[in-house]
Amino acid sequence: MRNFASNPKLEIPGLFWDNWRSQLRFAINTEAELAKYIQLSNAEIKAIQKCSRKFKWQITPYYVSLMDKTDANCPIRRQALPSLDELEDTANSSLDPYGDLDNQKTQRVIHKYPDRVIVLTTNACAVYCRHCTRKFRTEDLELIANITEPVRSWKEDFEYIDQHPEIRDVLLTGGDPLSLADSALERIIARLRSIKHVEIIRIGSRFPVFLPQRITTELCEMLDKYQPIWFSTHFNHPKEITEESAAACDRLLRHGIPVQNQSVLLKGVNDDAETMKTLVHDLLRIRVRPYYIYHCDNVTGVAHFATTIETGRKIMRTLHGFTTGFAVPEYVLTTPLGKISLCEENFSNHNGELWVKNYKNEKMRVETLLLDESDKQLC
Ligand SMILES: *Cc1c(COP(=O)(O)O)cnc(C)c1O
Ligand code: SF4
Repeated sequence: MRNFASNPKLEIPGLFWDNWRSQLRFAINTEAELAKYIQLSNAEIKAIQKCSRKFKWQITPYYVSLMDKTDANCPIRRQALPSLDELEDTANSSLDPYGDLDNQKTQRVIHKYPDRVIVLTTNACAVYCRHCTRKFRTEDLELIANITEPVRSWKEDFEYIDQHPEIRDVLLTGGDPLSLADSALERIIARLRSIKHVEIIRIGSRFPVFLPQRITTELCEMLDKYQPIWFSTHFNHPKEITEESAAACDRLLRHGIPVQNQSVLLKGVNDDAETMKTLVHDLLRIRVRPYYIYHCDNVTGVAHFATTIETGRKIMRTLHGFTTGFAVPEYVLTTPLGKISLCEENFSNHNGELWVKNYKNEKMRVETLLLDESDKQLC
């Protein structure tokens, strides 16, 4: 069996490699600093200069250590380094094609499905994914200045959950909730656990990928006190599965916390069958269950990563039946109606317009998608 990579550590004076706070303190966010470790292309240099004024960016030394030193098409570089494409205006793009804003009940609670909510814990992340679907939250777009308001008390957010007995599943997301200190996170989780109707708590975090050192034994022990806890992470490429990230997932699993993976289908990163197949197989080797592949929709600033639905379906056809049943994630599109499984019967074509149907049999037209000829024949 092939070993997982263990990449050479960056030599940064003063950095304690295995200490997550130190990694965050030494996070790289200037061209000059990054150029010490990789050979930047001209386009990357331009993008850093132009995008830095508009979008946040920062990369942990650990994640930089996974980058190809010379190839700007490296999937790690594509996910973490700004690109000039982020500034392009793309037809039909939307800041919020998923309709989160319409379902926002308090500053932090989004209640879109009957029995579960997501809680926007923080705006901070270890690395700012260039394809973030909540780019409008984690980045400094002027348009949404009104929602990046100063931190308010959590009173209203907890009260909302208190007062809605139908909420049995609370998903902490963000940003990345593990950006918070253990003590702050524990206060939130303990408060949620005091609510009788909350059955499960889920944590959505990319720290196992960006900074596996964050998944300390202390963190796992703290989480274990509040079971049942489930964990979703976000590996997009086999290069992200290293000795360190495997060990981080192992620590969670050994504390009884199941780990699932949600990937995003990204052009030039993982939109080919071989990469996706290696990814799901490597996930099973580290006992992480592939859960979703999200179709990348036409989010403002992210459109350069969008593929067609047919691209995703072709990949899915190489997985179903050809590999372990539970290695196959569900391929979904997020819409204001919820997640739509991209299986054929949820789509219909009315005179070239694409319509989707959700779990409640509600229908809507989706205008933001990229379509190719085979998409247009979907029925
Ligand atoms: C994805 C999502 C959830 C969780 O959905 P599951 O399919 O149960 O994982 C909850 N709320 C919102 C707004 C979501 O986008
Ligand atoms: S870690 Fe999650 S919230 Fe943060 S930038 Fe990446 S996708 Fe967005």
